[in-house]
Amino acid sequence: MGKYQDFYRKSIDQPDEFWAEQAKLIDWHRPFDQVLDYSRPPFTRWFVGGLTNLCHNAVDRHLKDRPEQNALVYISTETGQQQSYTYRELHAETSRFAAVLRAQGVEKGDRVIIYMPMIPEAVFAMLACARLGAIHSVVFGGFASASLATRIDDAQPRLLITADAGMRGGKIIPYKHLVDEALRLSSHPPQKVLIVNRGLDKEMAITTERDLDYASLREQHRDDRVDPVWLESSEPSYILYTSGTTGKPKGVQRDTGGHAVSLAASMRHIYAGQPGETMFTTSDIGWVVGHSYIVYGPLINGMTTILYEGLPIRPDPAIWWKIVEENKVSVMFSSPTAIRVLKKQPPEFLHKHDVSSLRNLYLAGEPLDEPTARWIADALKVNIIDNYWQTETGWPILSSVPGIEDTPRKFGSPSFQVYGFNLKLLHESTGQEVGVNEKGVLVAVPPLPPGCLSTVWGDDTRFVNTYFSTFETEMVYSTFDWATRDEDGYYFILGRTDDVINVAGHRLGTREIEEAIQAHPNIAEVAVVGIHDELKGQAVMAFAVAKDASRTSTPESAAQMEKEVMATVDKELGAIARPAKVHFVSALPKTRSGKLLRRSMQALAEGREPGDLTTLDDPASLELVRNVIAQWRKE
Ligand code: AMP
Repeated sequence: MGKYQDFYRKSIDQPDEFWAEQAKLIDWHRPFDQVLDYSRPPFTRWFVGGLTNLCHNAVDRHLKDRPEQNALVYISTETGQQQSYTYRELHAETSRFAAVLRAQGVEKGDRVIIYMPMIPEAVFAMLACARLGAIHSVVFGGFASASLATRIDDAQPRLLITADAGMRGGKIIPYKHLVDEALRLSSHPPQKVLIVNRGLDKEMAITTERDLDYASLREQHRDDRVDPVWLESSEPSYILYTSGTTGKPKGVQRDTGGHAVSLAASMRHIYAGQPGETMFTTSDIGWVVGHSYIVYGPLINGMTTILYEGLPIRPDPAIWWKIVEENKVSVMFSSPTAIRVLKKQPPEFLHKHDVSSLRNLYLAGEPLDEPTARWIADALKVNIIDNYWQTETGWPILSSVPGIEDTPRKFGSPSFQVYGFNLKLLHESTGQEVGVNEKGVLVAVPPLPPGCLSTVWGDDTRFVNTYFSTFETEMVYSTFDWATRDEDGYYFILGRTDDVINVAGHRLGTREIEEAIQAHPNIAEVAVVGIHDELKGQAVMAFAVAKDASRTSTPESAAQMEKEVMATVDKELGAIARPAKVHFVSALPKTRSGKLLRRSMQALAEGREPGDLTTLDDPASLELVRNVIAQWRKE
């Protein structure tokens, strides 16, 4: 048996010994009494009785061995700023931030929403919450006010932290303005809003009594000492909202001890990063990749992490490689879409810089197609490692594990099941395991390993019903992805089993987008599907029925309505969810029981046949869809 096989088997056959060993990678204020309490399946309590703190593990712990090493390097090609923070400085800034929060009454268990651009204060804010035992919920800055308001109402935060503005492609994006609007829409607005004023939005409005200026409070609390609050391992560290099949996003809740151990272990084994080295993850703190591999993972592992505010092609498409060269990056993490964007640029940009420090480039979030993987592997001469995981798991489910054994990789496959995950592929209707190279639903046999979601915030029933109730035959965690496994044990992901769309690695729910479109007063009904897109993996396409059909009867009026629908989505959800195309039809294809036939619409939009139509109620409705697609293709 190979080295990785041994390692994997131990994680499944002797999980207590295995995870007790991994738990040594972090500091415990008090040791745990029990590795796993699984007395209430499918709920897990990892490292029961252990006391620890994430901020201590990410920051304070390194003051002994590496106080003068850079912990955080902030690079903004939007504002031209560059600033490094050593572990000592990161400790000071995080303590100040924690002191400011504490002075506002933030305590253990309180929720704090962070709605911020990619600036160092966003990282200080996350770590400061962790220091106090407060539960942060970072909301991606691309989400609109209404989405932010939904998350505020669910998390009911004591405080919201924001900035005056962000910048994207040289354009100022007002954040505080969106926060004001979200607070107006919300039924549980926080009492206070803490603002990091970057001086970008000169017109920012201030609400006295409610709005607080971070810079002045930071001065007041410059030298305050805030000790980490020790949490029992299972106490929550954060909530991160993600989309599913309903319109209401789910708050993925992560614990503290299991989370820290899973990240520390993944940094060693999967990302193979050494303390003192540099990691560059090109995601955003608003996504799970940002939480795990911009902030917590690299810092827990004593590495230098790069926080990059900007686009991959500005000021030119060599910017990432320049960052790699100047910072001697050895581990890099990005997404297939970003690489496809770079692939469209003139090839010389890839060779302008010395990237020999780079060992491995990890790509995750969406399927990695073979041409893209080959292109970047040849160009950079580094290992390309496809990682498959989800917001729910917090770290990879499928990957090669080069820190243990550098197994050969196959293009198109994220390799093997990662240690701790006991995976199966089940037939969608019988629930039986499928054979080699046969398509099944990818599931994990519980207990889930440390670091995975402990529940859905405030809704244990939703946690069990959503994730563990797909099959009657067996209680298993469903990933909602189709997959196959070949004769060598390599997995291949084939796409979602539910109505989730993946645009540029970002998860969007069809119901959420449909609800946003319905906010337009002239929309009677709408169906949203994800269709194949060369660059972004999938693009959003909508089929809508107008209440007043005369407003869509000419190409000009339909184009005007389409614009209005797109603007509605921008306002309700954010531009990331904006449909690439809105088709207007007089009826939508449904089953006799009234369910939308999204899959048939998707097939037609992708130029395939619509599949099984035995339940279709009105055949004419499908022909309408066929016709608008044919017309659209001609255009
Ligand atoms: P998110 O929670 O937003 O990260 O989305 C997770 C989903 O993205 C998974 O359920 C998959 O559908 C998809 N996904 C993530 N990583 C990969 C990958 N390496 N290959 C294929 N699909 C992926």
